Amino acid sequence: MSGVIVLVELEPSTEVLDAGEVEVGARVRWVHAAPGDPDAGGDPGPVTFCGIDTDELEREEYRPAGPGEPWYPPSQRTRRCRACEAALRSL
Ligand SMILES: [Zn+2]
Repeated sequence: MSGVIVLVELEPSTEVLDAGEVEVGARVRWVHAAPGDPDAGGDPGPVTFCGIDTDELEREEYRPAGPGEPWYPPSQRTRRCRACEAALRSL
């Protein structure tokens, strides 16, 4: 699953601070995944696996620790995007 980038969709009311840092306590609506763009030095491709524009999402630094690890941050398990998950399973 290398090359998969995790992105979070925040509640609309969440304030995003400068430098892309998310306010502590920011509310995550959904956790998505996107394929890495090999031409962009590790940045995500233009859309997630479920088709959302990645420009709308915040980068999450979580990476699966190894094979068999969840693709989403364990603390966000209930908010994982099922469409992205289905796409990841079919890779
Ligand atoms: Zn998704």
